[in-house]
Amino acid sequence: MKVICIGRNYADHAKEMNAEVPSAPVFFMKPDSSILRDGSPFFYPEFTKDLHYECEIVVKINKLGKNISEKFAHTYYDEIGLGIDFTARDLQGEAKSKGLPWEIGKAFDNSAFISKKWINKADLDLENISFSLTQNGTTVQNGSTSDLIFSFDKIIAYISQFVTLKIGDLIYTGTPAGVGPIQIGDKLEGFIGEKKMYSLNIK
Ligand code: MG
Repeated sequence: MKVICIGRNYADHAKEMNAEVPSAPVFFMKPDSSILRDGSPFFYPEFTKDLHYECEIVVKINKLGKNISEKFAHTYYDEIGLGIDFTARDLQGEAKSKGLPWEIGKAFDNSAFISKKWINKADLDLENISFSLTQNGTTVQNGSTSDLIFSFDKIIAYISQFVTLKIGDLIYTGTPAGVGPIQIGDKLEGFIGEKKMYSLNIK
């Protein structure tokens, strides 16, 4: 399985990163070794001094698919989770400034944190899912999928032109504004609506 992440899918986050709002989805990947399941602690890696959280709605692919049309994309997922796309912002920034790929700052071990809880999509209004992240009890990110630039179905249709989607693949659908640094000792908690999806300690 693989992890596919969408970059700059909320205009307010693109703005805070001084990045252009894209005209087509921007995606990058993390390997399966990046997955950290809820219940395990996250250890702050030694290679970065500027590790950021990016809270994101995650779509779990349930069917093999290639060249999926937007119209049928909704049949390729049933469950919605919440994750964190951990980013070594210093390493990513250095790579970006040299025009190099971002993997060094994005694809490292445990960088794709994922909730243990999943919500059936039938129980959500997919076009208006509110979600949030708290850091030590203070809300730092607050988003709604109503602000997505590219919907889940558009993302699936677009990516599957290039990359075959397989059962269990996870798509991180982008983060709203409010990304920021974490420190050892922090507690991060993610919510979809009022429902607590995860709690993660940074060690
Ligand atoms: Mg992200």
